[in-house]
Amino acid sequence: MAGLIALTFDTDHMSEARMEVFLRTCDWPGRAVMFCTQRYACLSEADHELAPHPYLPEGGDWDRELTSKRDLFPNAVGWRSHSCVYSHLIAARLARDGYLYASVDEAWGHIGLAPSPGSWGVLQMPIYFMDTLDISRSLFWPSSNHRPFDTELIDRALNSDGLFVFDFHPVHLMLNTPDVEYYMRRRQAFVDGTPLRELVHPGRGIATFFNELCSALRARGEVSTALGSLAQRHQPIGPRASLPPARIYVSPKAPA
Ligand SMILES: [Zn+2]
Repeated sequence: MAGLIALTFDTDHMSEARMEVFLRTCDWPGRAVMFCTQRYACLSEADHELAPHPYLPEGGDWDRELTSKRDLFPNAVGWRSHSCVYSHLIAARLARDGYLYASVDEAWGHIGLAPSPGSWGVLQMPIYFMDTLDISRSLFWPSSNHRPFDTELIDRALNSDGLFVFDFHPVHLMLNTPDVEYYMRRRQAFVDGTPLRELVHPGRGIATFFNELCSALRARGEVSTALGSLAQRHQPIGPRASLPPARIYVSPKAPA
């Protein structure tokens, strides 16, 4: 019994040029969700679900960011913010703006997950694996004795029931990031367009794990599913018309 695998990508730090190379050099079975920081011309022809990836920093103009990302992706049904910033009030905004689901909750390594209605009927598509968490756990949670790139996570997903949302970053796949320090030392060079051969990690890293996941999927004839169609099937019944006005949330201000 295999789970339902959903490959998703957050496009932080990816330019149009980098994305073209990524699409040319990285492939996977099935459809993915691209949570985008910008529009990419090269993605318009690809058969993947496109959704926004807003950046909501402390003290930032959240209303402007949410509006501009909605304008960039007016037909998107999915949503994931950078660092998975979320709240009941953001959920109200997403419902008002017609999004069907958010994929921000962490459910690391859990089996038996399913789309479930969250606040105001916005479905939650919990994240089973995220590459940045994988390389950050030993930093933020030293006692967890975390071992990154654990193929047990792949085996569990392929041999258990449930929804398994994998969250990767193309920048990490292109660098084959092995750890946070490696990434932080090369991120600006990546953004500046330094040739990848000068940046890519030659040993075990995020791309290695990703390729192992894709190989396991192919070996079983499984494909990644996009989340939008799944959300359509799990939509809570009932209209979501009488929703509050747009500016109901205020980004937190630092105390004086
Ligand atoms: Zn992000």
